[in-house]
Amino acid sequence: MCLICVDIQKEKLTSIEARRNLKETHTTLAKKHILEILRLIWKKEDEEQDKMWEEYNRLMYCETD
Ligand SMILES: [Zn+2]
Repeated sequence: MCLICVDIQKEKLTSIEARRNLKETHTTLAKKHILEILRLIWKKEDEEQDKMWEEYNRLMYCETD
């Protein structure tokens, strides 16, 4: 595990920031580990997309209290 994995799991990085960090540090990482990081980033993107749709639906259907 590297800093990128740790930060993704601690929700300290967005998928975009994680990708940027990966780009900067990938030369120092094992190829196998790069795949593991990408897998975490993809998972994170899925979660972010879910949140985006939730927000979109809230706006579209104007749930008011
Ligand atoms: Zn890692």
